[in-house]
Amino acid sequence: MLDNNNWVTCYLGLGSNLANELGSPVEHLQQALASLEQHQAMRQLRVSSYYASAPMGPQDQPDFTNAVVELETTLTPLELLALCQQLEAQAQRERLRRWGERSLDVDILLYGQQQIDEPTLVVPHAGLHERNFMLVPLRELAPELMINDQPVSAYPLSADWSGLELIH
Ligand code: ATP
Ligand code: CA
Ligand code: CA
Repeated sequence: MLDNNNWVTCYLGLGSNLANELGSPVEHLQQALASLEQHQAMRQLRVSSYYASAPMGPQDQPDFTNAVVELETTLTPLELLALCQQLEAQAQRERLRRWGERSLDVDILLYGQQQIDEPTLVVPHAGLHERNFMLVPLRELAPELMINDQPVSAYPLSADWSGLELIH
């Protein structure tokens, strides 16, 4: 079959630390991944291990379950952001407090090698270089990956397991 679409390799960061009637944190991640798998504008999904991470911000909340997914998509960056927010809504995410507990958070970490600086979308994700729960799984998936013209392995937190544990 002819395939004239432009497929871009992207990385999404998934996190959850709140169960609700739809499932546990691990199940929220699995449901989001299943939706991505089924999406026509997505292919070649590869998922990192699942990690437990100490919360950022408010400390009186459960540890997070995090994973990173690599995929190819034909969606534009803003379409991909809308899809991420749709997945959060599907998990009945409620906004309680900044960096607080949530059933599902889906962030765009990288969109090809594009730099995006829009009011609603900054890519690479603004917190990427200071968050080991994003960098460790990224390095696991793609050890040769370039982020802002530097290999992921050049970022110290990509090898820093503070507050991080492998779940499976
Ligand atoms: P952080 O962005 O520091 O990880 P958060 O994930 O808790 O915090 P949210 O409340 O989920 O923040 O999102 C706030 C806004 O961030 C979103 O409405 C979205 O417009 C914006 N945003 C900017 N860049 C990105 C990105 N790369 N991925 C996802 N959302 C982004
Ligand atoms: Ca986030
Ligand atoms: Ca987010």
